[in-house]
Amino acid sequence: MTERFDSVVVGAGPAGIAAAYTMAKAGLSVLVLEKGEKPGAKNMFGGVIFRHHTEKLAPEFWKTAPIERHVVEYQYWFLSKQSHVLVSHRNQKFNEEYNAFTVHRAKFDPWFAKLAEDAGAVIINRTTADDVLKEDGRIVGVTTERGNVLADVVVAADGVNSMLAKQAGLREETPEGATVLAVKEVIALPRQKIEDRFNLGADEGVAALLVGFGPGMHAGFMYTNRDTLSIGIGVDMRDLDKSKQRPNDLFEEFKAHPSIAPLIKDGDLKEYSAHLIPEGGYDYVSNVSTDGMLVAGDAAMLVNAINWEGTNLAMTSGILAGETVVEAKKKRDFSSRSLDTYRQRLENSFVLQDLKKYRDVPKFFEANPHFFTEYPDMMNDLFYMWHVVDDELKANRIKRMKGYVFKRRSRLSVLKDAYHLWRLFS
Ligand SMILES: Cc1cc2nc3c(=O)[nH]c(=O)nc-3n(C[C@H](O)[C@H](O)[C@H](O)COP(=O)(O)OP(=O)(O)OC[C@H]3O[C@@H](n4cnc5c(N)ncnc54)[C@H](O)[C@@H]3O)c2cc1C
Repeated sequence: MTERFDSVVVGAGPAGIAAAYTMAKAGLSVLVLEKGEKPGAKNMFGGVIFRHHTEKLAPEFWKTAPIERHVVEYQYWFLSKQSHVLVSHRNQKFNEEYNAFTVHRAKFDPWFAKLAEDAGAVIINRTTADDVLKEDGRIVGVTTERGNVLADVVVAADGVNSMLAKQAGLREETPEGATVLAVKEVIALPRQKIEDRFNLGADEGVAALLVGFGPGMHAGFMYTNRDTLSIGIGVDMRDLDKSKQRPNDLFEEFKAHPSIAPLIKDGDLKEYSAHLIPEGGYDYVSNVSTDGMLVAGDAAMLVNAINWEGTNLAMTSGILAGETVVEAKKKRDFSSRSLDTYRQRLENSFVLQDLKKYRDVPKFFEANPHFFTEYPDMMNDLFYMWHVVDDELKANRIKRMKGYVFKRRSRLSVLKDAYHLWRLFS
């Protein structure tokens, strides 16, 4: 069986659905292939979706979408083995104007996919695109076990491991350092317990990022859902290789941390999953276009790890890919020259501008792991020293604290670190 469409989109995640919706709304015939039994079946994330970018496709979506809670508080935890320092920002404005929502992808993705279906796209689940189809060097469709699908443009939105981008020669095998492995559990707790433990009102949520805890753990995360908690850690496999730890052992240690354990106490494990995050940044972004094909979302390695953003880059790149195809259709030109405007659209948007701005950050932190080990540890020790009440004169205590800092890191290296941070983020 061979079918023909204006575009075939591979992957029904945020990138693929945004692309399909954009093209279908403009009147193009669009087929979406999804290997899962339904959209979202194979997807996991932290996590939150963002109002601003989701609303570009679905105004006031929270009134009908299966969202869990709207985020009113952002927490940054700096862990040491025994303790934590917590910096958090809660704002009533997040109750008045929503900013981000916690969701379960298994529920949100099918709802999101229906937007594209309602606009006229056809979604076929349980169907894997096995390879790209080429004719005279240009991509003309994809192969599946059910038959071939021909299209003027293939949009590869098949996630972080994108087979299609590799088969099209747009991406190499994923290099070391380009991805972080995340392991996550969804833990069920009564709704009231979640609200009491996190000091939340009904429907209010917390998004928490945790750093520290020692080598191996890149960062941890916690998100409050309606009656579950999403909790996980990201690990750099190279660090684990060195320390001979398994991700799961590190995760168990993380959950047993004296500051974390009370938050998940008496919870029931509902789900365990693992997934890669393309956190390498701008230098690992793949080529995004060739004759007859565009690449969007994680498939093109579009994740901003510094700001914990992924779905919004996926949706935006999907929209921009869709718009590029609509324009190409008007010109009847699906060559790389025509489709290359997609890269320019990405460069003109926040997607590549933000990634470019932070392009040196991943490498900097990789070369300076003490930011995630030594500094959180020092912060905890300093707070401890400050809070212990005894007969020591405060002037002596401050001197002792200064001495402690400069014994662990020289004055010059502290100054250098502060300067580098300022340079990286200003
Ligand atoms: C642990 C973790 C936490 C995260 N937290 C957040 C967060 O809080 N907020 C945020 O914005 N982002 C977060 N992200 C990133 C975010 O999840 C991704 O950036 C986003 O899902 C990318 O969307 P996508 O559509 O490009 O890819 P995906 O969501 O991965 O979708 C790809 C789809 O393609 C399908 N597919 C793959 N191959 C084929 C094939 N050959 N044929 C057919 N179908 C195929 C898959 O089944 C899947 O449905 C997180 C990621 C992880 C792993």
